Amino acid sequence: MATIGFYTLGCKLNYAETDSISRKFTECGFERVAFSDVADYYVVNSCSVTESANKKGRQAIRAAHKRNPQAKIIVVGCYAQLKPQEILQLDGVALVLGVQEKFSITDRVMALEKERLTSHVPEGCVTPIESVESFNSAYSCSERTRSFLKVQDGCNYRCSYCTIPLARGKSRNTTIQELVRQAEEIANRGVKEIVLSGINIGDFGKSTGEKFIDLIRALDAVEGIQRYRISSIEPNLLTSEVIDFVAHSRAFMPHFHIPLQCGCDEVLKLMRRRYTTDFFAKKIAEVHEKIADAFIGMDVMVGSPGEIDEYFQKSYNFIQSLGISFVHVFTYSERENTDALQIKPHIQESVRTERSVRLHSLSEEQLHNFYKKYDGTIRPVLFETKNKEGYQVGFTDNYIKVQAKLPLNAKNKIVPILLSYRNGVMEGILAE
Ligand code: SF4
Repeated sequence: MATIGFYTLGCKLNYAETDSISRKFTECGFERVAFSDVADYYVVNSCSVTESANKKGRQAIRAAHKRNPQAKIIVVGCYAQLKPQEILQLDGVALVLGVQEKFSITDRVMALEKERLTSHVPEGCVTPIESVESFNSAYSCSERTRSFLKVQDGCNYRCSYCTIPLARGKSRNTTIQELVRQAEEIANRGVKEIVLSGINIGDFGKSTGEKFIDLIRALDAVEGIQRYRISSIEPNLLTSEVIDFVAHSRAFMPHFHIPLQCGCDEVLKLMRRRYTTDFFAKKIAEVHEKIADAFIGMDVMVGSPGEIDEYFQKSYNFIQSLGISFVHVFTYSERENTDALQIKPHIQESVRTERSVRLHSLSEEQLHNFYKKYDGTIRPVLFETKNKEGYQVGFTDNYIKVQAKLPLNAKNKIVPILLSYRNGVMEGILAE
């Protein structure tokens, strides 16, 4: 039996896809081993959101080749779609598969397996992105408590700094009926929480003419799944209908992640984002008003071209004024074939780093204020793991990370916890 190890970089979608692919290999008789073990085959599911993501992909490939120089390495993911020739130069790489070919990987490796003793000429199979039509379903379940369910792929937007549409193609999806069937399958595996994953989730329905609001309504009715989270949704697609639905739903958690990218209208225009700061602020206010306990996280990119000092300060002040819970800070990274490269002025690396540091500390402050609000309250926590100190660790409905010493093994259980916030850590005890 051939052994195979997997390594995943990037977003939740990549993790869902690696998990689905690895299950197919197991069904084909391969033995899954840790990526750090010696294996006959290695699969690297790559990311290309920044130049450093490409670099990490190359490092993983070199590490696998060093572990077993005879191993055949298969590279999939966004870096594979964008730069197949670059990857084919690396020792040990046997196959580079694009978005369209990614899910036929087991057949291709089975063919390699047949010719294992003969020398194989490294091969790149990458359909040009504009011709990619197919949607391949995927979900993760190796974590047992939480599953990333792929509901949508690709993106039709053209944000000036972003290379994802070139790596993942146009917005597409499978049917609501099929996603409900997958959610039921996930429930039958004993998983309690599903995180809806995709590239532009709110844009769900392009392939089937269906709507995102109808998808979440249908999923909310799936017995066995006690929690859903929307991993990320564009501000202009977070409709009042969606907010109202989440506010009164059975199982959608009070938790939103909304990419702002910048808190300054001049820069939003250069980024080709589809909203203004005024629109964004009203959206946040609406969430606060309708779901008082909601955790609101957002993505912000610092140092993008055209973000002069004055604009960054405007952005900083705007973010500070919103009263959100957390900021996921990204530093702008030049991406080939993106229009942002033409925008002036470009911001020096040192200035980008400075701004990233400032926003990280603002984010810590926001998170501290959010956690402090729940000191002494009781919230339901889904426990997932145990940390080195023997605490059971999990998340509340509104995404507060909690550690607790409990009189029972609460793994994969939702239990009411009395919270106490001390020294930046949320601890808890079983609520009577
Ligand atoms: S919405 Fe914009 S940033 Fe997000 S994937 Fe699409 S093009 Fe990229």
